[in-house]
Amino acid sequence: MLIDMTETSRRGLIVINTGPGKGKTTAALGTAIRAAGNGMRVLILQFLKGSWHYGELDAIEALGKALGSEDDPSIVIRQMGRGFVKVGGAETDPEDLKLVEDAWAEAVEAIQSGDWDLVVLDEINYAIGYKMLDPDKVAEALRQKPEMVHVILTGRNAHPSLVELADTVTEMREVKHAYQKGILAQRGIEF
Ligand code: ATP
Ligand code: MG
Repeated sequence: MLIDMTETSRRGLIVINTGPGKGKTTAALGTAIRAAGNGMRVLILQFLKGSWHYGELDAIEALGKALGSEDDPSIVIRQMGRGFVKVGGAETDPEDLKLVEDAWAEAVEAIQSGDWDLVVLDEINYAIGYKMLDPDKVAEALRQKPEMVHVILTGRNAHPSLVELADTVTEMREVKHAYQKGILAQRGIEF
C-alpha cells in the first residue's frame, strides 16, 4: 500500500462506524483525539444523547482547553438530545424531533463553517433509522461539504445511501458482549 504524506494528497473523508458490535462511538472518539493531537479542530455532536453523563465529556473538555485555550477549545463535544427517545410513527415525541432538527441544523452549519477540520455526528444513524432525520438531506449535505472537512457518522444500521457515499465504512460485529451475561454497563468502558 502506498501512503502519500504530501499536503496535496490531503482530502476530507466521510467515515461511517456502524454494525451491532460495541465500539462505534469510542472509535470515533479515538479518531477525534488523533485529529486533535495533529492540531486539527474537532467538533463532536451527539444526536439523541443527553441524560447520561459520559466520561468523554469531561476528558474532551479538559483536552480541548489544554490543546486550544480556555475560550477557544480545539476539540468540543456537545450532547444534542435528552437520552430517552420514544420512537415509532406517531409515538415519536415532537420534542425529540425538534432536538434532532436542531442538532442537524448545527451539524450542517459546522460542516460548512470552515471552523472545524473534523465533525463527528455521533449516533446520527439512529436518528435516521428512527425516521427523525431524512437520509437524503444528510447525503446532500455530505456531497456539498468543503473538500477538506472530515465527517464521521456513527450508529447501527447506517442508511445504504450513506454507506454508498462514504469513503471508509466499518461494521462492528458482535462476537460477544458482557451485557448478554447480565453484566450491566460499566463506568469507564460503556460510559
Ligand atoms: P461505545 O460507545 O461503547 O463505542 P457503540 O457506540 O458501538 O458503543 P451504541 O449502539 O451507541 O454502541 O450503544 C450505546 C451503548 O450500548 C454503549 O454503552 C455501548 O457500550 C453499549 N453497547 C454497544 N454494543 C452493544 C451490544 N452489542 N450489546 C449490549 N450493549 C452494547
Ligand atoms: Mg454509540
